[in-house]
Amino acid sequence: MKYTAVLVPGDGIGPEVAHATCSILKAANAPIDWVHCLAGVAALDAGEKELLPAATVAAIREHKVALKGPCTTPVGGGFSSVNVAMRKTLDLYGAVRPVRSLVGVPTRFDNVDLVVVRENTEGLYAGIENEITKGVVTSVKVATREACLRIAEFAFQYAAHRNRKKVSVFHKANIMKLSDGMFIRCAREVHDAKFPNIAYEELIIDAACMRLVQDPTRFDVLLMENLYGDVISDLCAGLVGGLGLVPGANLGEHAAIFEAVHGSAPDIAGQGIANPLALTMSAVMMLNYIAEMHGDGALAATATRIRTAYDLALRDGCKTRDLGGTLTTSQFADAVIARLG
Ligand code: ATP
Repeated sequence: MKYTAVLVPGDGIGPEVAHATCSILKAANAPIDWVHCLAGVAALDAGEKELLPAATVAAIREHKVALKGPCTTPVGGGFSSVNVAMRKTLDLYGAVRPVRSLVGVPTRFDNVDLVVVRENTEGLYAGIENEITKGVVTSVKVATREACLRIAEFAFQYAAHRNRKKVSVFHKANIMKLSDGMFIRCAREVHDAKFPNIAYEELIIDAACMRLVQDPTRFDVLLMENLYGDVISDLCAGLVGGLGLVPGANLGEHAAIFEAVHGSAPDIAGQGIANPLALTMSAVMMLNYIAEMHGDGALAATATRIRTAYDLALRDGCKTRDLGGTLTTSQFADAVIARLG
């Protein structure tokens, strides 16, 4: 079987980590034909008029699966996030970010194995901001019962499917009584009605942060709205060695985009030293997703081969600089390729 997927390298370190990842997939004979598309600054640089070209959205709609590098979002002004726009345009409402300890990457805790599930389409990321009068701005947090219910359903279904035992909802419903209040009520409703056998808890997010850094091994699946999910994903990345190690999937009914949790890392872009592993892990999630969709056991085995190879590389001490090593992006990719069984 051969499959087509869209590749959006992004900008900053995106093209470097995308190149390394594609070389690993190629060496593993992953049966993927890439359709190359642009987004963000890279699209403008190539003469496109839009940050999110219609052709890129159309290609993802057509092929249904994409691997995407990060797209830079300017801070405090300029254009709004292309990453967020893509998720909203394609209604990729569920972000899944698995965070696990890796042998060869020593951190404070050895057995972290949790999954952040983030609502991807609303909350403060609805992008509704106004200067109502000079010196006074509002940012509107949007929560709809429909989106709260569907992300809760998504998280519990994910937990059930992966034999996960507990879902913890992080919220601030003591302060945001209406929006976060609805979020937890919907999660509770879905749990009680359909998934009573999965353990369930609600934690106020500030206390949850303290518990996460004290003992992340007590957590399993974490469910939260958009902004909290963004912040907590980076916190969790820190627990297992950093942003170079956490992959992600943005899933909807009609398409899926796989991308690392990290951003475009402009401070190290163009130097060939970024860690490609988070995107490679995202690509492995993509292969497993396609394999499951098509019942393709051989493709699932290819995904496992790549995962085993990078686990071995880390165990053998092959590391990029973010992990205290000296390997360049391409040297790390070569180390993984050399360990493909
Ligand atoms: P965004 O808001 O766009 O998601 P961010 O605030 O998460 O971005 P990043 O661009 O991810 O920021 O970078 C944060 C820090 O982590 C930077 O110092 C960057 O160099 C480092 N970093 C991020 N990704 C990687 C990577 N793949 N390899 C090495 N270092 C990385």
